[in-house]
Amino acid sequence: MKVPFAPPRMDKRVVDEVADTLLSGWITTGPKTKKFEKLLAAYCNVPNILALNSATAGLEIMLRWFGVKEGDEVILPAYTYSATANVVVHCGAKPVFVDVGADFNILPSEIEKAINKNTKVIMPVDFGGLPCDFQKIHSIVQSENIKNKFVSATDVQRQLGRILILSDAAHSFGATVNNIKTGALTDVSVFSFHAVKNLTTAEGGAIALNLPNPFDNQSIYDYLCIYTLHGQNKDALAKMQKGNWRYDIIEAGFKCNMTDIMASIGLVELERYADTLERRKQIVSNYNTAFEKYPWAELPEFISDWRESSYHLYPIRIKNCTEKQRDAIMQKMFDADIAVNVHFIPVPMFSFYTKLGYSLQHYPKAKDNYEREISLPLFYNLTDEQQQFVIDNLIKAVNETLAG
Ligand SMILES: *Cc1c(COP(=O)(O)O)cnc(C)c1O
Repeated sequence: MKVPFAPPRMDKRVVDEVADTLLSGWITTGPKTKKFEKLLAAYCNVPNILALNSATAGLEIMLRWFGVKEGDEVILPAYTYSATANVVVHCGAKPVFVDVGADFNILPSEIEKAINKNTKVIMPVDFGGLPCDFQKIHSIVQSENIKNKFVSATDVQRQLGRILILSDAAHSFGATVNNIKTGALTDVSVFSFHAVKNLTTAEGGAIALNLPNPFDNQSIYDYLCIYTLHGQNKDALAKMQKGNWRYDIIEAGFKCNMTDIMASIGLVELERYADTLERRKQIVSNYNTAFEKYPWAELPEFISDWRESSYHLYPIRIKNCTEKQRDAIMQKMFDADIAVNVHFIPVPMFSFYTKLGYSLQHYPKAKDNYEREISLPLFYNLTDEQQQFVIDNLIKAVNETLAG
């Protein structure tokens, strides 16, 4: 039996919706992208959502919108995908990594220690789909003492008057805190619709705008539409209107718009997303039931009295296990034709970042999580037989490895 890691849920409904777009005469940003954005915003209960070609683009666009530049610092967890840090580097600013907790998420206490007069943005990451402790993070950025440290360098920064919370919600579309969905939990949240994510458009992402007064999210959305399309004051569809050919470039913008082909996949994915979440939750529950009786198994958190995950990953940790033993367990899984993964190799470990002087030694919990973590297959079409095969093989691999 072969078990893949996270293939997308593709079927005739998706094929039909994509074919409808392909044959409609309009394949780039147009009516389906706009419809997808409206439905996403309604799902998350936020004023506006802008769909783009990736989460990475969305994060960078929002850093630039906030005026993040050289000399500025952005706080983010050491335990994330490289994109979260790379976009900070793109803007010329300094990524300031902080350690995470047992739930894999950024530690508010560590955020507080890392803040100084150069701090402009905090980028929490909802690891595996589990939302961060946003109440704590909000109370940090809104406390008088921290607000007094904030130095505004742009109009937008003056308007906010504090550190921006730009949430990397790449994993957590559909997750909740006190029944409020991600997107509506911070100033700005960015979702990923990459092929391995819960809801996919092949490549894709979206910015959820939820900025407080006095910001007008609609006018920010209108501006971002232009900023993510060359700085051109008319999009391709508007230019198509009879005689409406003339346009202006109001600034040197970026090019990271979503196409209607991508949006048509997303429309089908969104319509059945409740069913997707239900199935993922069931798979997680099966894993939990199978592993909870083993003393070596440290089960991930998915739900508590205040938050619920989007069940994006199943990141099990093996207790009292070295990195070498973890790798050996993974090899046994690969030998059994089961695809497993590690989420994540902490960013400060990568050569680009070590050359800049970062070191994993400063993030002991990120190191510990990384060394003992294995992500198991979790996807809509995983069959019960496949899941049982994964469970049996993991138990066998752990027993053999930790005994020997
Ligand atoms: C996937 C991912 C991203 C990047 O998403 P793209 O849509 O591929 O740009 C960013 N952050 C995290 C935590 C991710 O897992």
